[in-house]
Amino acid sequence: MIFENNLAFAKQLDDQDTLKHFKEQFYIPVINGKESIYFTGNSLGLQPKTTQDYVTDELEDWANFGVEGHFHATNPWFSYHEIFPQQLSKIVGALPQEIVVMNQLTVNLHLLMTTFYRPTKERYKIICEAKAFPSDQYAIESQVKINGFNVDDAIIEVWPREGEHVITTEDILSVIKQHDHSIALVLFGGVNYYSGQVFDMELITRAAHETGAYCGFDLAHAAGNIELQLHKWNVDFACWCSYKYLNSGPGGVAGAFIHQQHIGNRNLQRLAGWWGHDKSTRFKMEKGFNPIESAEGWQLSNAPILSMAAHKAALDIFEDAGMENLIAKGKQLSNYLLFILDEINAGLKEKMIEVITPRNNKGCQVSMLMLQKGKKFLKH
Ligand SMILES: *Cc1c(COP(=O)(O)O)cnc(C)c1O
Repeated sequence: MIFENNLAFAKQLDDQDTLKHFKEQFYIPVINGKESIYFTGNSLGLQPKTTQDYVTDELEDWANFGVEGHFHATNPWFSYHEIFPQQLSKIVGALPQEIVVMNQLTVNLHLLMTTFYRPTKERYKIICEAKAFPSDQYAIESQVKINGFNVDDAIIEVWPREGEHVITTEDILSVIKQHDHSIALVLFGGVNYYSGQVFDMELITRAAHETGAYCGFDLAHAAGNIELQLHKWNVDFACWCSYKYLNSGPGGVAGAFIHQQHIGNRNLQRLAGWWGHDKSTRFKMEKGFNPIESAEGWQLSNAPILSMAAHKAALDIFEDAGMENLIAKGKQLSNYLLFILDEINAGLKEKMIEVITPRNNKGCQVSMLMLQKGKKFLKH
């Protein structure tokens, strides 16, 4: 599409937008009496107007049923989490049995690394992106230490080339090749939280598997943003949060993916809890962990229903909108923004905005460095 930098053109795009009515389904913060233009959905997604009712319904069931709500609530709490895999399977490209909604992101990252980071004397390294989100860096560091390895030796970060912001796929693959049989795990973000770069998850997974290592992804900035095909790409595991692109509320319940080829494997190490135990014998309260043969087998605790109600409110909207439509709109919006930023730069004597997000490898995030007047732009 050929863009134009004027209001009439932008309004025309709005008119043609089949998703435009969805905007009315969200609360948009008002600042100094003016509805804001919200660019920080990658940090905390906006609240659907339906969320309050979904949460209130659960509070009412709790008031009316007490403990019996586990079985007699409108959506019985015992099985509430079972609602999600079907809806999320379209968002992350997975089979329903490969998905479980539980805990929060960093917790899930630790649980999955406990299963998929099993270092030996020969094979103990973790390959990851440089400047990964700090929580991921801390999780990786602590896992390496718990297993008795040295952080400087075991963690191999792939960096952008000098003066660049993007990590080339070529460099990632060559680092994986170089460390080959010493790699236990390759762990990347799906989308880098800072640069907005989308990593080639399929190629990275294939390269990791060629060395005999496991491969996992943190999809905090990818789930609800870009096309994902976790099952098809043979990704071993992944996890994501629900409060960024998925609009499910601050600190909302998170998601995890474990590939089908692993879900029935009882030999995998895992941290166990009663909600991961076989449902038919769970309440016998007996010794001996017998995991559910799906991603649910990684659950620890009974489900946080209030947080899940907020998640359900959001995912019902995603279901209505359709992930392909959202991806197409995200692409168009970010491309239009890039076009306008280019126009602004072209009209200035000195370039003001450096876009660090790769143009051909992005979701809907556009990251910019302000080369001048950065402070001024920070103010509302
Ligand atoms: C947002 C984000 C987190 C935050 O972790 P929580 O456990 O949800 O607090 C972690 N990792 C990445 C990559 C993120 O983008």
